[in-house]
Amino acid sequence: MNRLITPFDPWKSGMCTCPPKYSLNPYTGCDHRCRYCYSTYIPEFFHARPKKLLLTRLERELKNLSANALISMSNSSDPYPPMERELELTRNALRLMSERDLRLLVITKSDAVVRDADILKNMRATISVTVTTLDESIAEKIEPLAPEPGKRIRALKELKKSDIPVILRLDPVMPGINDESVEDVLEKAKFVDHVVSSTLKLRGDSYSRITKAFPELRERYREMYFRRGEKVGGSWYLNRVLRTGLLSRVAEVCEDLGVSYAFCREGIPFRAKSCDGSHLAV
Ligand code: SF4
Repeated sequence: MNRLITPFDPWKSGMCTCPPKYSLNPYTGCDHRCRYCYSTYIPEFFHARPKKLLLTRLERELKNLSANALISMSNSSDPYPPMERELELTRNALRLMSERDLRLLVITKSDAVVRDADILKNMRATISVTVTTLDESIAEKIEPLAPEPGKRIRALKELKKSDIPVILRLDPVMPGINDESVEDVLEKAKFVDHVVSSTLKLRGDSYSRITKAFPELRERYREMYFRRGEKVGGSWYLNRVLRTGLLSRVAEVCEDLGVSYAFCREGIPFRAKSCDGSHLAV
């Protein structure tokens, strides 16, 4: 059976500025169906399944990790799919991790993470919640099965009240979809400890899914990404001028609000202590 805890970015992408960390996904696949999802190279991705023998394997593998190891949960699926409320796999994984002196970065789009604040507040943990828009009709089109943005903002607030450091992932910024409203999201979440942002990267399948929901963007995205953009690894990026323009709006608002911020896989400099907010998991 494959290992559960694996090095993050073993390919060492030139765009990645993350510190050394491990990746742990309690589930394979994800039910949130975000149209921009970057993990759809995994077969039958939009259908979450619990990892087999997760807790037994995790217990064994945790013994081999050094005390200060940083685990990121999860990078290629959400650790809180709807079935987690009943299965409590992620919760039990947290219990096991809390017995060791690890550092933990939780990344989710679900307010269900609040249930586990009792464990998380006693760990060296920080929680990232993704909010791309406050507009529920846009969220429904772009992240159809994820909890509503208002619930995610409330989750960030509740975790913060429990003294858990929180991160807003304003990620991705999508031209013509949410780029005009990044200020509103940042203003609403100005209490967070860190912001991570990035621009939309496209592959053929995400281009099809997005433009099915937003047909008016079909030609615009073709031009911006496939004709004038840059190919990095297997993904299409906007060109650097456009990326810098979009992210400078995030930077300006964060500067005004006095919130630390960074960019994910953009090749654009930032001053925060880490891109992913792992400096908060201390
Ligand atoms: S929550 Fe993350 S992993 Fe799940 S579908 Fe959305 S982008 Fe993909």
